[in-house]
Amino acid sequence: MNMKIDPWSALNIDDYSKLFDEFGIQPFDDMVREIENPHKFMSRKIIFGHRNYNRITDAMNNNKPFSVMSGFMPSGKIHLGHKMVMEEIIWHQQQGADAFVGIADREAHAVRGMSWERCNDIGINEYIVSLIALGFEPNGHIYFQSKSEQVKDLAFELSSKANYSELSAIYGFTGETNVAHMLSAVTQSADILHPQLEEYGGPKPAVIPVGSDQDPHIRLTRGLGHKMNMFKIEGREDKEGNRYFSIRSKAAPEEALKELSQRIPGKTKLFEGHVDVFSADNFESLMKIVQDVELEFGGYAFVPPSSTYHRFMSGLQGGKMSSSIPESYISLTEEPKGAAKKVKKAKTGGRINLEEQKKLGGEPEKCSVYEMFLFHLVDDDEELAQIYTECCEGTRMCGHCKALAAERTEKFLKEHQELREVAKDRLDEYGL
Ligand code: SF4
Repeated sequence: MNMKIDPWSALNIDDYSKLFDEFGIQPFDDMVREIENPHKFMSRKIIFGHRNYNRITDAMNNNKPFSVMSGFMPSGKIHLGHKMVMEEIIWHQQQGADAFVGIADREAHAVRGMSWERCNDIGINEYIVSLIALGFEPNGHIYFQSKSEQVKDLAFELSSKANYSELSAIYGFTGETNVAHMLSAVTQSADILHPQLEEYGGPKPAVIPVGSDQDPHIRLTRGLGHKMNMFKIEGREDKEGNRYFSIRSKAAPEEALKELSQRIPGKTKLFEGHVDVFSADNFESLMKIVQDVELEFGGYAFVPPSSTYHRFMSGLQGGKMSSSIPESYISLTEEPKGAAKKVKKAKTGGRINLEEQKKLGGEPEKCSVYEMFLFHLVDDDEELAQIYTECCEGTRMCGHCKALAAERTEKFLKEHQELREVAKDRLDEYGL
């Protein structure tokens, strides 16, 4: 049988290609080469796209400050999808990022009507305990939206730049939507931008690892961050085709523009409302001067957040995972033997009978058991490639795979749940 062996191809990129074309998300392939030890989600193309991740590789490779941030709505069981995001945060923390994890209790309260007590209980006992058990270090920041004054204040400021039609286009708000729901949407933008406040070291690249469905929110936040900045830097060209930068502001005091024109080395020209810069050869150092002056004059300065986009696992029975169908997902807090049983009943890409399987080979790209291996249960690339090849060649049978996946799921959950018990005694190290 002639076949191309590509164990990563089980995930069909075509479904995501419109994100590249329509919304300007960049393929992640080019970025992987810039990273010394990429996470397996990166090398296996589970993370398939990004916005401005080059800022993050530049920071990682040159020991510059950067941050990673993501949030979790405390509304149900923690499952393998949440584990993916947590692993991405922890990986960036290990690469030197200042790491932030927000528990979106304001959102759960406003959108799901959950009590504050329940939000707190689920936030800690489902999400935070697992986050710590997975390896989140205490030098990172874990917070609840409702208890962070910085996030609440910034959300208020951002709300002055967000308008109803923009929000309703993204979130489908109607005349019936309550205002708290709208505020919780802006609070998510504050979550994303607040690691750049002066209290946390000021403007710096920040990466937000998300699923592809979250991109509208990233776009909104990048737009709001841009609107908050005191100055806008625009690239221009004069009549002779010479390129220059124009730094513009509607709101900055005259002294701020004057200060800017004096501090930027080389030839500048000060006008009412803008400074033109004719000899900046390094955009980054120019941006740094602009940000310093913005902060000194009491303004905000945000670097547009970078983002990575990962694919989703399908439900164990095929189709989408759904919190209302417990058979479709594995929770990190469920009984390990019960979880193993679910895996044994999962939908595979196997053929109708053994004879067909041997003749045609299986279809790992349609197999939720293979997805379990790819995303979570097999760390060794060679082992994964072997499973893929044997499946396609028809020398591997689904019963064998299911038994292996069930055994590893049970083992992982047992170990994780033991680590959770240790994590429960360490909450005070995280200020909780
Ligand atoms: Fe999936 Fe394994 Fe069956 Fe192939 S042999 S379809 S990987 S369960």
